[in-house]
Amino acid sequence: MDTPASTDREGISRIERLCIDRGLKMTGQRRLIARVLSESADHPDVEELYRRAHERDAHISIATVYRTVRLLEEKGILERHDFGGGRARYEPTEHGPHHHLIDVDTGKVIEFADARHEAMAQEIAARLGFQLVDHRLELFGRRFPEPKPAAPARRAPRPRNGRDPA
Ligand SMILES: [Zn+2]
Repeated sequence: MDTPASTDREGISRIERLCIDRGLKMTGQRRLIARVLSESADHPDVEELYRRAHERDAHISIATVYRTVRLLEEKGILERHDFGGGRARYEPTEHGPHHHLIDVDTGKVIEFADARHEAMAQEIAARLGFQLVDHRLELFGRRFPEPKPAAPARRAPRPRNGRDPA
């Protein structure tokens, strides 16, 4: 869930470094997409990534962004999510294991971790004869309505012994 600095001392973005480590040839446009991904703390879809990349390089095409995202997903650098809405959303796997709650009204995605849920998932897998290697939890929710403004405060009833509480 942490988002450390997006580039290292040599100015190479974290995602670009992962690409290099996995033997991907880095073109200028791939490098740019890697940088955009390194700087994104959210879960953008391809169109949003394209928009961010296009702001810096008007020559980049959405097809290139699609291809690069696919490639990075195949290499295990990006994880694809389906948060509803019909568009795949992406985030770097380096963000580590966590789950998502999606606000169905705003589309806002909230990340969380929960040790009890982790333990329960392991238990279920074990009961079925498996060792848990991965699991995902996506919650779709709607915020409770804001509480109404408080009614004018009424005086607290006096305690029976007649003294004010300490
Ligand atoms: Zn996430």
